[in-house]
Amino acid sequence: MSCWQSLPKVELHVHLDCALSFESVARLAPGFERAGYEAAFSAPELCRDLPELLAPAVRAVALLQDEAALRLAVRDLAAQLAADHVVYAEVRFAPLLHLERGLSPDEVVAIVGDELRAAAGAHGIEARLLLCALRHFSPGESLATAELAARHVASGVVGLDLAGDEGGHPLDAHVAAFAFARERGLPCTAHAGEGAGPGSVADTLERLRPARIGHGVRSVEDAGVIARLVERGVHLEVCPTSNVQIGLYPDVAAHPLAALRAQGVSVGVNTDGRTLSRLTLSREYERVAAAYGWTARDFEACNLAALEAAFAPPEVVERARRRLLADAAAPDAAAPRAATPAAADPKAADPEAADPKTARPA
Ligand SMILES: [Zn+2]
Repeated sequence: MSCWQSLPKVELHVHLDCALSFESVARLAPGFERAGYEAAFSAPELCRDLPELLAPAVRAVALLQDEAALRLAVRDLAAQLAADHVVYAEVRFAPLLHLERGLSPDEVVAIVGDELRAAAGAHGIEARLLLCALRHFSPGESLATAELAARHVASGVVGLDLAGDEGGHPLDAHVAAFAFARERGLPCTAHAGEGAGPGSVADTLERLRPARIGHGVRSVEDAGVIARLVERGVHLEVCPTSNVQIGLYPDVAAHPLAALRAQGVSVGVNTDGRTLSRLTLSREYERVAAAYGWTARDFEACNLAALEAAFAPPEVVERARRRLLADAAAPDAAAPRAATPAAADPKAADPEAADPKTARPA
């Protein structure tokens, strides 16, 4: 168990269809052994590029095509969030990918929203939904996703996202969808600066005008983009392991999370694809703490910044903020308050760092 498990957390960037546990897969596709599950549903520890990281998600999506499967996936993720002591989460997925066995887009969102309210509520977690348009979507599909989001506020939908591979998929097809969301007062985030450089973040800020950016880490390469993020108070949903896995940085210590924060950018720590990366949020905190010597106070500051950027109604966010602070003060929140010995030796806290594939030289 990670020593960071008991620390209360906020997670704004986690994909429902990239978080299926072995137990859920075994129920949905009987016959899968654990080794086969890992090979099919997780990505290599070092991928060639973003598409290779995302490839296994197709298999999970194929299993999530009826009501029972969608409800199971939501309960599965809610249990994972609870195990990580997440107090507030925004869970994202692309409803248009779940229509293969006859569900309508509205049914998909209603089912996922209903189960998320019940499952997260049972664990005492405030959780809401973001609907994803995907980079390869047509303008019609992207706009249909935005319209679905606007129609399903009562199902717990609080925003629109643009996900998928930046490479080769410009923003043109999505500008109208994001304009529609803005007109309806629906907050937006968008993946950028992950598969492509700071120009992609700048372009996304100008053309989609999101309140947050998924990843956005390559902004660090351009002082002008950093200045814009700070000026506009745009929050970056940072997912260090996911970026290391696609070879953007050799390890978490070389990742710009700490540098972005030091430059005044609002940042939070997230998992992205829990199953793709064989990751929990507690494990990610452990890696970040080992890499930068961060203490519980540093993570608390990031979690408060994430809550300030949360899309749920203010009273929901305020409840989560109070819970975050109360749980952090509770005696069982035993995460280190000062730099740990592991901070001095990042490899000591990360057994996987001994693996040559994850411990490549900088
Ligand atoms: Zn993502």
